[in-house]
Amino acid sequence: MILREDDTLHEECGVFGIYGDPEAAEKTYLGLYALQHRGQESAGIASSDNEIIHLHKGLGLVWSVFSDPDTMPMLQGNAAIGHNRYSTKGANDLVNAQPISIECKAGKIAVAHNGTLTNAQELRRGMQNKGSIFQTTSDSEIILHLIACSRETNIVDMLRDGLNKIVGAYCFVLLTPEKMIAVRDPNGFRPLSLGKVGDAFVVASESCAFDIIGAEYIRSISPGEIMVIDSRGISSTMLPPAPKKSFCIFEHIYFARPDSFVFGEKVDKVRRSLGRELAREVPVDADITIAVPDSGNTAALGYARESGIRYEIGLIRNHYVGRTFIAPHQNKRRLDVRVKLNPVSGVVRDKRVVLVDDSIVRGTTMRQIVQLLRSKGAKEVHVRISSPPIKHPCYYGIDISNKDELIAGSQSVADIQAYLEADSLAYLSIEGILKTVQEKNQYCTACFAGNYPTLIPQEFDKFSF
Ligand code: SF4
Repeated sequence: MILREDDTLHEECGVFGIYGDPEAAEKTYLGLYALQHRGQESAGIASSDNEIIHLHKGLGLVWSVFSDPDTMPMLQGNAAIGHNRYSTKGANDLVNAQPISIECKAGKIAVAHNGTLTNAQELRRGMQNKGSIFQTTSDSEIILHLIACSRETNIVDMLRDGLNKIVGAYCFVLLTPEKMIAVRDPNGFRPLSLGKVGDAFVVASESCAFDIIGAEYIRSISPGEIMVIDSRGISSTMLPPAPKKSFCIFEHIYFARPDSFVFGEKVDKVRRSLGRELAREVPVDADITIAVPDSGNTAALGYARESGIRYEIGLIRNHYVGRTFIAPHQNKRRLDVRVKLNPVSGVVRDKRVVLVDDSIVRGTTMRQIVQLLRSKGAKEVHVRISSPPIKHPCYYGIDISNKDELIAGSQSVADIQAYLEADSLAYLSIEGILKTVQEKNQYCTACFAGNYPTLIPQEFDKFSF
């Protein structure tokens, strides 16, 4: 039986692109490796040798998709784009792996997308009614159809024309034989940064992908910016601005790697501040602070520092357990957490424990962790969460499509505490998370407050196509 971990939030996707490097595909491979946490279902690279776009993609982790030594030499050229996918829209089939490549009147184009388009269903229906034939069930293909149908005559204007019709969250990296184009939606939901290595320019969802290839971080690509990189250098134009910027606060809380810069801020610094703010808002008398590894590590350090309650490593994570686990028998849920996490009994025995994590989705995993800590002799378990309760679905690229999947969608904090069998449970407030970032008014908090910054679809289903 193959079990999927279903009690965590799933990252959206990771995108990478490089222009002007003779080892463009190799560097893209390394960049995707650094961005593996953003998507594990499929990976792909498209490269350009100024005439042809070469493409290889497959299901699985980056190393397995490119494990055949004959693959990389085929990805020739000085420019390449890459993609790691987690499917927030469309099934996990090879046909939906990215980059997606087409040839139209604008020439050859490949695209990699991070985010989710909220008007994808109506756009697709409209285009199908006019005769368009889609290759995939992913919303990312829509931009290629819009480019192909544009009456403009050059690729940048055709792209702009298409972008003016779409709503939602997107960072696109496109490759043509001569250009690489990076775009971020006007709300700025997902992060996209610009870097440089030697004479080559690099773009990536997170700056950890720059470090692995020795590239230097230059800046965050602005919301609404269309950046064109070609033999003449960099040029940018802007899409019409959104009424309000809406950076995804969950990038800082959980998705992005702590060693990355996103939205122009160091993730590690923001995440520690979340822990500090949590300790200030909802203190508790206890002997030790422990994290749910790895997601709670950095916030737990901040909590311990602010509260003065000693940080200990009280749970050990088995790093060799992937996102799927082959279970030898039916007792799956209980086994699932024990395979992944084990308490250190010498650390937790007879202790009042503060247990810090970044979020609670269904609560099933947290309930088992609390039980495990008690079984190893913990005297009290106080759960502290470095984000507010997640009550609403996300339509912008995170896999929370149904309120029923969220324990806080229907239950009070007191009810959740009772379900977890914890001695106390407290979350950080929305005001608390916003204190930890510089541009407080430019963040999306819709999954906590329901205050969506764009029109949202009437029906939303990741398999709707
Ligand atoms: Fe991020 Fe939540 Fe907004 Fe989605 S709804 S973009 S997860 S803050």
